[in-house]
Amino acid sequence: MQIVVDLNRCQGYAQCVFLAPEVFELHGEEALMFTPTVPDGQHEHVHRAAAACPVQAILVGERAGSR
Ligand code: SF4
Repeated sequence: MQIVVDLNRCQGYAQCVFLAPEVFELHGEEALMFTPTVPDGQHEHVHRAAAACPVQAILVGERAGSR
């Protein structure tokens, strides 16, 4: 499963970091790092993170990485 975070939208709220800390990491105030290819076992966490993001910056899908 692939994810993309629209970093122009991301406001560093860190909801995703709380919900899927193995995939999302915040460096400093607004520098979000993420693992574009989500490991098996993290899918549920990532879906929750995507739903929780206040600005819908997280795109989830098999094709999110190939656009
Ligand atoms: S929850 Fe959304 S706005 Fe907050 S850090 Fe994650 S991607 Fe960025």
